[in-house]
Amino acid sequence: MKKHPAKRTRHLVLVLGDQLDRHSAAFDGFDPAADAVWMAEVPEESTHVWSHKARITMFLSAMRHFRDALKKEGLTVHYRLLDHPENRGSLSGELTRTLKQLKPKRLISAVPGAWRVQRALKKTAQAMHTQIDIRPDRHFLASSEAFSQYAAQRKQLRMEFFYRQVRKKTGILMAGDKPAGGKWNFDAENRQGFGKEGPGSVPAPRSFPPNSLTREVMAAVEKRFPDHPGSLKRFDWPITPKQARLALDDFIDHRLHRFGPYQDAMWTGEPYLYHSRLSAAMNLKLLDPREVVAAVEKAYHTGQAPLNSVEGFIRQIIGWREYVRGVYWFFMPDYLNRNTLGAARPLPRFYWTGETDMNCLRQAIGQTLEYGLCHHIQRLMVTGLFALLLGVKPQEVHAWYLAVYVDAVEWIELPNTLGMSQFADGGVMASKPYAASGKYIQRMSNYCVDCPYEPGQSTGEKACPFTTLYWDFLMRHESLLRKNPRMQLQLRNLNRLSPEERRRLKGQADRVKAFATNSENP
Ligand code: FAD
Ligand code: SF4
Repeated sequence: MKKHPAKRTRHLVLVLGDQLDRHSAAFDGFDPAADAVWMAEVPEESTHVWSHKARITMFLSAMRHFRDALKKEGLTVHYRLLDHPENRGSLSGELTRTLKQLKPKRLISAVPGAWRVQRALKKTAQAMHTQIDIRPDRHFLASSEAFSQYAAQRKQLRMEFFYRQVRKKTGILMAGDKPAGGKWNFDAENRQGFGKEGPGSVPAPRSFPPNSLTREVMAAVEKRFPDHPGSLKRFDWPITPKQARLALDDFIDHRLHRFGPYQDAMWTGEPYLYHSRLSAAMNLKLLDPREVVAAVEKAYHTGQAPLNSVEGFIRQIIGWREYVRGVYWFFMPDYLNRNTLGAARPLPRFYWTGETDMNCLRQAIGQTLEYGLCHHIQRLMVTGLFALLLGVKPQEVHAWYLAVYVDAVEWIELPNTLGMSQFADGGVMASKPYAASGKYIQRMSNYCVDCPYEPGQSTGEKACPFTTLYWDFLMRHESLLRKNPRMQLQLRNLNRLSPEERRRLKGQADRVKAFATNSENP
């Protein structure tokens, strides 16, 4: 009997771990009779940076749930498991194998979340003489092209103006052509600390305990990556679109109303406070930002949440989140190598263990390892600030941030780390370095209460290493910072120091740097 060759796949739709969106442009025109989906769990994506176990689990579990949903719909899915004995280890290796086997006429993908991955896909397709169609990612409100046009018209980029433009264009939180409530920004009412009394009882966010599929992934991750950082004990993230919507509802019902005033506050033992915990769900595309913003705006119109909280939250999504993506694609790939301040120290070893007697760092890093999440100010003004003041090489700081958070994807992580937190892009993301002394941390948290150091002291036995390094940072970069009008107040304070005070500060800072670099306590 004559054998009929298997029907050739027409289009192979590539679905990467951060593209779990059935409404993605990659699925436009998908014909289940002719097309198939390709997904692969490859160790390289977990070892490219030394990923937290919770980050790996988050991606793999969400991918397996997405695969099952597609199969339930009747789609053909070619899926490579992490522990398959023939797993080639990298996206290129796995894709090459599939291309040899299926010989599809065309590959289709949405824009990946990292420049490195986009290049790998293009190179693999080229090597295998297969056309690849990389389609815009509709998840975002602003396209990369629109951002490029916006950026090309300006000498200096600022998130605030981009954000206002998005609001005007979309009508989000607008009353005609004016911002709702008559102001674009409610920062003056926000940015509060809790004071000595603390936050009181904070409603615990809805938890999504791991189901059997997630537990399978957790076991595979523990087996394959036993020495990777972080714990899986607290893993309770939303990993399906349905769970992500429940997490959104829970945030709006219980925490949104206090988000605004306390978005910058930190408190021991309260990892989430009034934050949404939605970043990973959005970055993996389980949740559409438009849906998030519409639900939050509705909470304002129905009186469920005040405008300062609603505007503060919406600004993060349609302002910062969209803006950093624009910056990433506009400036990559050379953005990755920027180092305006010439910082060259290695990342202290305690970033991977939390073992330091500086309580703020111990709390923020400990929380990172335990939960895989820290909020913005813990990232910017504790771990990020210390690395900036110490002068750690920005690329090492970047590799840490990309590794340790469940929500870490390069397009959003890199501009935040390299640009906003380390000022390595020379002012693209931030108009001045986020340099502060330990007094900022004292004001915004209770960390200093249980610390052997004194945030107000810059020299002496009890001097806070942040405060010492803050003055040292200003002295080290004085000539560069003089050109920045927004640094003048800080430099005026520096000018008041006598040569003797400067000399003592420098001596203390040298000791802190030596100890921190050797990962011992200063
Ligand atoms: P919420 O405080 O509830 O904020 C709501 C949403 O707004 C977030 O889910 C996020 O989507 C968006 N958002 C908030 N801040 C930012 C910001 N600065 N840039 C872009 N979007 C923002 N966020 C990531 O999603 N992935 C990262 O890898 C990442 N790396 C960061 C690295 C550094 C050094 C810093 C300073 C910030 C980083 N952020 C990153 C931004 C921010 O810290 C997280 O989005 C936030 O803490 C996630 O928790 P949440 O969902 O509870 O956020
Ligand atoms: Fe951190 Fe300094 Fe406060 Fe200690 S005293 S918690 S090191 S800011």
